[in-house]
Amino acid sequence: MNGQITPSGPTALRPIEVEVLVVGLGPAGSTALRILASSGISALGVDRAEFPREKPCGGGVSARTLPFLPKNFMESLPHQTTQGISLTLRGKREQRQDFGRPIAYQVRRDQFDLALLEQARGTGARIMTGIRDIRLSRRGGGFVAMIGEKTVFARAVMAADGATSKVLRDLDPDSASKIRKNPLLRPWTSAEGWASLRDPLDARFVAIDLGLVDGGYAWAFPKKDSLWGLGVAGFLKPLGDPRSVFSRYLVVREADLDSGGALTWPLPNFRAVSHGRIPGLFLVGDAGGIVDPFLGEGIYYAVLSGTKAAESYIRSRNVLHSGPDLPEQSAMEYVRWLDRNIWPDFRQGSRLARTIYRFPGIFFALTGRYPKLLELYASILTGDHDYRSFSREVIRRALGRLLPIRRPAAGRVL
Ligand SMILES: Cc1cc2nc3c(=O)[nH]c(=O)nc-3n(C[C@H](O)[C@H](O)[C@H](O)COP(=O)(O)OP(=O)(O)OC[C@H]3O[C@@H](n4cnc5c(N)ncnc54)[C@H](O)[C@@H]3O)c2cc1C
Repeated sequence: MNGQITPSGPTALRPIEVEVLVVGLGPAGSTALRILASSGISALGVDRAEFPREKPCGGGVSARTLPFLPKNFMESLPHQTTQGISLTLRGKREQRQDFGRPIAYQVRRDQFDLALLEQARGTGARIMTGIRDIRLSRRGGGFVAMIGEKTVFARAVMAADGATSKVLRDLDPDSASKIRKNPLLRPWTSAEGWASLRDPLDARFVAIDLGLVDGGYAWAFPKKDSLWGLGVAGFLKPLGDPRSVFSRYLVVREADLDSGGALTWPLPNFRAVSHGRIPGLFLVGDAGGIVDPFLGEGIYYAVLSGTKAAESYIRSRNVLHSGPDLPEQSAMEYVRWLDRNIWPDFRQGSRLARTIYRFPGIFFALTGRYPKLLELYASILTGDHDYRSFSREVIRRALGRLLPIRRPAAGRVL
């Protein structure tokens, strides 16, 4: 294989042979493609959209994403830095905390995704966009993709085609139909849009509201151009009609929707996707259900999983060279990484979601009484904590207050 084009037939119809085919060039796919191509691996990235393209998203990129983005990436992109949280309960009783350091960078997804794609292009990766029709099947130990008129042979496939992954439906229809049939595995619902605020908020803060959205939260994220990205998402049960929940939020925020209107979009449920069923198939980003079940944060996980998938392939290739086991072994290495690092943390995030979104008033009262709780919240976005260490820290602090802990004279204080 090694990326040569087989010399037969008219040029346009010649099959293309690549080592890795990356389908979908959002943050997950572009990241994987850039890392593969910069290691000299023959990789082709395809997307049905022409870039720049919109993606319904709040566009909040957590600070912990930065180490996984190309060098100086954020500096080259228009963005608004947010360094604090403004929390309200049903639109009232604001509590604010300024952490004095960036917790998230607010971007426009059309610009962010285009810039990431350009970085992948800069490595010499082959890219095809505007592909309306792609069908995948397995052949021998690899994959065949019919991309419009073209046939592509690939040893491994990275599915990065988002929450409604066509690659997953083509290659693992049983898994895809299980998601459709089981209400507990269906994606979470959300609605979002751009709006101007009649009573502007401080653009250094992300605004989060608890209690207005049953089983979830509402947000307002500042953007560089004075518009705000507003949205609602439910994590415990379907929102019913997300647009009407969103309309209620607009009223509470005194916001006027931009001409683009409101969009609804699924947020994948991390329990839904089964990884490791198809040898040589990597499911990354939303296509792999890798979205945080508490905040709905997915950009970090898209970039992280795209990085880890590509690195697993490269590492296994260094050991196995181009042996027949490479696609399967490298994909299994990636699955093991998910099992160790992502799912245990998501299960804890999901427990937090069940507690906080079910009893938003109690959590709100607690953050008023113990402002450190909001700081811990921010520490997830900065990467200082994950959900497991966050929960341990909350319990440790709660016990520190409730129990008469004897501290050694010169010991560390809780
Ligand atoms: C309302 C809403 C708000 C959100 N806000 C935030 C936020 O503020 N911060 C955050 O971190 N996360 C947020 N998320 C989650 C975040 O948007 C996603 O997790 C993230 O975009 C996932 O990236 P991805 O690369 O996996 O997929 P995507 O960004 O969805 O990219 C998938 C790509 O695949 C392409 N594609 C789709 N089908 C095909 C096909 N058949 N063939 C070829 N190409 C195809 C698409 O054109 C697209 O370019 C939000 C999500 C929603 C719904």
